[in-house]
Amino acid sequence: MDCIFCKIASGEIKSSFVGENDWFVAFDDINPVAPTHVLVVPRKHVKSLEELAKYDTECMRSFFELVEQIVELKGIKTSGYRLIVNQGSDSGQEVEHLHFHILGGRKLGRLG
Ligand code: 5GP
Ligand code: ZN
Repeated sequence: MDCIFCKIASGEIKSSFVGENDWFVAFDDINPVAPTHVLVVPRKHVKSLEELAKYDTECMRSFFELVEQIVELKGIKTSGYRLIVNQGSDSGQEVEHLHFHILGGRKLGRLG
């Protein structure tokens, strides 16, 4: 399957992970919009939140633990951050493989 995030997650495209666990990998966005801009991506080619929700609760717990590790590592736990999913055409989603953006390191504007 020709999916850039599958290739990054599998190691086919070499990347430096800022965090990983059994379910997810996390890496810096290639085109950051904030001083911290990390993408958290399921290792599997999951296309939507609905699909991710079918996995067990351990997966969900591991996601929030990984986000916690990343914001600590990036030093934005206290200053604050934003966690975003773009899903579907109105959101401007570019990559079909589900991904969560973690943004921080500056004052973020209003959503939308
Ligand atoms: P979306 O708009 O789909 O929510 O966000 C896709 C994000 O993936 C964008 O912020 C874009 O910069 C990032 N991106 C696209 N291709 C690559 C890539 O090959 N490597 C990395 N690290 N980020 C990518
Ligand atoms: Zn994929």
